[in-house]
Amino acid sequence: MAEQCTYEKYVFKKKLETLRSKSGRSTELISLYIPSDKKISDVTNHLREEHGQASNIESKLTSNNVQGALDSLLAKLRSLNKIPENGIAYFIGTVDTGANRTSMENEALIPPESVVDYIYHRDFVFYLEPLEEMLRECSTYGLILLDLREATIGMLVGKQIEVIRHLHSTVPGKQRKGGQSAHRFEQLRRIAIHDFYKRIGDAASEAFLGVEPAELKGILIGGHSPAKEEFSEGEFLHHELQKKVLGLFDTGYTDESGFSELINAAEDILQSIELIKQKKDMEIFFKELATESGKVSYGEDNVRANLEIKAVDVLLLSENLRSERVTVKCGVCGYENKRTRKWKTSEAVPVAGNCPECGSALEVTDVIDIVGEFSELADRGNARIVFVSTDFDEGSQLMIAFGGIAAILRYSTGV
Ligand SMILES: [Zn+2]
Repeated sequence: MAEQCTYEKYVFKKKLETLRSKSGRSTELISLYIPSDKKISDVTNHLREEHGQASNIESKLTSNNVQGALDSLLAKLRSLNKIPENGIAYFIGTVDTGANRTSMENEALIPPESVVDYIYHRDFVFYLEPLEEMLRECSTYGLILLDLREATIGMLVGKQIEVIRHLHSTVPGKQRKGGQSAHRFEQLRRIAIHDFYKRIGDAASEAFLGVEPAELKGILIGGHSPAKEEFSEGEFLHHELQKKVLGLFDTGYTDESGFSELINAAEDILQSIELIKQKKDMEIFFKELATESGKVSYGEDNVRANLEIKAVDVLLLSENLRSERVTVKCGVCGYENKRTRKWKTSEAVPVAGNCPECGSALEVTDVIDIVGEFSELADRGNARIVFVSTDFDEGSQLMIAFGGIAAILRYSTGV
């Protein structure tokens, strides 16, 4: 029941933060974006050229580092049979790890959305803008554009627009043919319009009723007046879909080129929807907290305990949560313990300390992101996960006052 899309987004965001924190000692970090339709041989040829040019770099060290990075990229491309559907991005280079040390960063990412442009970039830092643009909500919205001539039905999934259907009407123009009575003409025209609205409604049902109701966050209707108003008020949409209409918006176009117009017009509404949902959940949390119903829990240990007994209904995790769960083990006596530490962007080797039982050095055997751990527990107990932004009061309180982790419980557990 976890909002998969949101969790993926979180994981992706975290990877970007890691990459963003790295820098080289000179312009030796390579970012390479390959769209799916690019020929691997073209990329290979380009990288070989870059390899040759890198020998001209003045600093011998930088030159060697860049060529080393390119060699490793070329090796990766050799083992790549096919570019993934969404394309692929590589981040390779010698990273300054402080204390006079460096390490080789070597990350391949398949992005959640398609890579559009082929980009080769060499700099002190990695070039991440194309990926950062993909970091927005993954919610799905139904899109309907109509006037009396045509209608287009589509879907907004994350940032991507999918065109689903294009319909043409048989509605005659205002000009009636000779010999037809004005009244009769108007009557036939109304019937044709009604039929067209009905076809649009049916096509919308076909397109949107198949989407998981929780995923379809709303429907936007755009186009000309009065067609979109008549359509919306005339109950041509399935009643489940009618409830989800977020608003009507004027657009100049009613073919697929009107979709981006529609989304721009509705942008404020789209942005506030996510926040409103989070606010509602936080309000329930604070209400239960104030009435001392016992149906809330907060803090890492308490919420974990409640997740383990499957008592959690809604798991509230702050988007600013950055810590990880580390398992340490003593190789001598078998002592094992788990501890939580702040998530670091640097790749510093964790210091585990000594075994409290026998004094031998402890070893880190497992590291899992706290959000990963909690999401897994929530899945097992069918809890709904809400990632809460810190952009509103209750959201920032979740982070500051409750350590970023809280829960609304199904029943009081006393924990
Ligand atoms: Zn020990």
